[in-house]
Formats: sequence, structure tokens, C-alpha cells
Amino acid sequence: MTTAQIISGKQVSDDIRQNLKTEVEALAAQGCVPGLAVVLVGEDPASQVYVRNKAKACEDLGFYSEVHRLEADTPQEELLALVHKLNEQDNINGILVQLPLPGHIEEKAVINAIAPEKDVDGFHPVNVGNLVIGDDSLLPCTPAGVIELIKHTGLEISGKHAVVIGRSNIVGKPVALLLQRENATVTMCHSRTSNMKELTRQADILVVAVGRANFVDASYIKPGAVVIDVGINRLETGKLAGDVDFESASSVSGPITPVPGGVGPMTITMLMKNTLVAAKRAHGLS
Ligand code: NAP
Repeated sequence: MTTAQIISGKQVSDDIRQNLKTEVEALAAQGCVPGLAVVLVGEDPASQVYVRNKAKACEDLGFYSEVHRLEADTPQEELLALVHKLNEQDNINGILVQLPLPGHIEEKAVINAIAPEKDVDGFHPVNVGNLVIGDDSLLPCTPAGVIELIKHTGLEISGKHAVVIGRSNIVGKPVALLLQRENATVTMCHSRTSNMKELTRQADILVVAVGRANFVDASYIKPGAVVIDVGINRLETGKLAGDVDFESASSVSGPITPVPGGVGPMTITMLMKNTLVAAKRAHGLS
């Protein structure tokens, strides 16, 4: 049985949402209601669930929201025209086009069409560039959620050695940049890293975003290290599994996130936070 502290993403997420709700009420009294537009192309079942959850979060927090559902064979030009229209809409502060998109649509073209100040996913090259150079930007949601969870443990990130396994544009790279911004010393591992356990065993903070069920076990972990598992993998049994073998890892780790109930709940919460930030900026409020 684990004695490690389990980091509840649900609890952290609920606390942040409560604060957001209070702030939205105060802003609404000044005539500023944050607005989010979510665009779904096609009928991917997982995407439909995500979109429904985003619309519900908006409703719960008092945001204005629009959901645009387009047919799977919608031409790219039509999707781009919708994005341009939303860019011009004053009641919309955040635009999220649910990924993945059908094969005939170029994701990059769609992401690049979103006005950077409304890019609440934080994927636009302007926001990515600002993150790299340390300027204000809308932060990608899952990586921002990872940082919130680490901070929640009470660990001072500054000066710690953080190891990130995975270097994707949506998780690994931005997590590493954000940890560096918090003054951690960061090592990134990927599929060509030859001495991975040697590196991960030095980590005070280990973030795992590999996309392989139960990839990391106790043998990768320094005793007491904070372990954040970003992975969401569907097993043949239908159950969800993280990239970390929780039973094994938690026998040596310090605070550790479960799957489900760890990083997952944070992503939509950080999306709401980004939309609020975008709304405040649009209204000239800091
Ligand atoms: P991805 O684009 O497939 O990237 C996986 C990364 O892991 C790559 O950088 C890859 O290295 C590395 N990798 C693969 N096999 C490896 C190995 N044997 N040893 C070391 N590194 C290895 O995946 P992703 O989009 O970053 O997502 C990662 C996981 O997070 C997935 O399970 C995904 O479902 C989950 N996720 C969760 C959320 C959430 O809200 N909680 C959000 C996004 C993603 P190379 O670069 O060398 O190929």
C-alpha cells in the first residue's frame, strides 16, 4: 500500500474554479463577461465529450460560451472563415478548435488563423514564441496545469532538478520551458535518450508524458521525488492507465498524481483561466 501523498487534480481544480467563479462575478458587475467559443469538426466521440465538458465548465463559472459543430467534411476554407468571424467578435475572448481535425484540414493553418490574444489553447506560434523568450503569453493548458499541481505540493521548484520524459509540442516542450521559468534545472528525455534511468533517478521532480501505459516504475524514481503523470492511455480492458505504474512508483515517490483524477481535471480549468486572462486583457484590466 502506498504511503505517498496523492495529489488530487480534482481538488486543486475545484479550488481554482471557485476562485475563477468569484472573479468572474466581480468582472461581470463591471460589464466584462468572459466568452469562449469552442469549434468541433466531425463526430469523434472523445472530442464530443471534451467539448461538452468545456461548455459545462463555462456554464458553471458564469462564462458566455458558443459551441460550433461542423460536419466532418467541412472544407478548410469554411472553418477558417468561422475562425476569422470569431476573431472579430467582441463577446468572444477565447477560441478553441478541438483537435484532432479531420485529415483534409491542415491543423497548422487553423491554429495560425486564431488571433494570438484569443488563442486560449496556447498553441499559436506567437504564444509559443513568447513563452520561449519569457514574455507574457497564454500558456498551453495541460503544461500550466502540471505546474499548478507541483506548486500545490508546497515544493519550491526553484533550484530543483526536474526531468521531463517526452518532448511533444503540446506537453513535453512547454512543461520543460515552464519549469525552467520557475528556475528549475531541466533535463528532457525522449525516445533517443540512452541513459534515461540514470537521469530520472536524479530528479526531484519527474514529469512523464510518453503516451505508454505504465512506462515508469519505481526503478526510475529518486525516493521522495514529486511525480506528475500526464499520460492517458486506454487499456484493452477499457480502463484508463497513466504513463506511470502508480502502485510501483508510489512505493518510493513523494507526492504523486493518479490517473484518472490527476492532470486530467486541470486542463479544462486552465482553459477557463486563460479565457478569463484574455477577457481581462481585452478590457484593459490587468
Ligand atoms: P506524443 O506527441 O506521442 O509524444 C510522446 C513523447 O514521448 C515523444 O517526445 C517521444 O519521444 C517520447 N517517447 C516515446 N516513447 C519513448 C520511450 N520509449 N522513451 C522515452 N521517450 C519516449 O504524446 P503527447 O501528446 O505529448 O502526450 C503524452 C501523453 O499525455 C499521452 O498519453 C496523452 O494522451 C497524454 N495527454 C494528456 C493530457 C491531459 O489533459 N491530461 C493532455 C495531452 C496529452 P520522441 O520525440 O523521440 O518521439
